[in-house]
Amino acid sequence: MCFEVEKIFSFEAGHLLDHHDGKCRHPHGHSYVLKIRLRSEELVQEGPKKNMVIDFSLISSIVKPMIETYFDHKWLNTTLDCDSPTAEYIAYWIFHHLESLIPNLYSVTICETPSASATYTPRSMPRSS
Ligand SMILES: [Zn+2]
Repeated sequence: MCFEVEKIFSFEAGHLLDHHDGKCRHPHGHSYVLKIRLRSEELVQEGPKKNMVIDFSLISSIVKPMIETYFDHKWLNTTLDCDSPTAEYIAYWIFHHLESLIPNLYSVTICETPSASATYTPRSMPRSS
């Protein structure tokens, strides 16, 4: 048994990919969508969060300050100190920024466009026997 919860955020940001062999080496921006996913085999048993994996408002209270500081209307090459902040790298960066703050964090997805996204999941998939 496993519960999965997801909270979705959005922000506008600019970047360039310094080494890219196409148009992404030029400065440009995206309306990014960020998906934060948690997994848990258990629900909170009692109290105000009974039968939740996590209160969605707690996820927001952790993620929104990060978005304000590093992402929304920011130049990602500078705020992430990276010469190639791809969607994959941003998902990786966010996961490691949040992993000590959000218990049961499972994966982070960054969508650059409605049809292009990258997901970082640090845990290896369990082998089927
Ligand atoms: Zn881009």
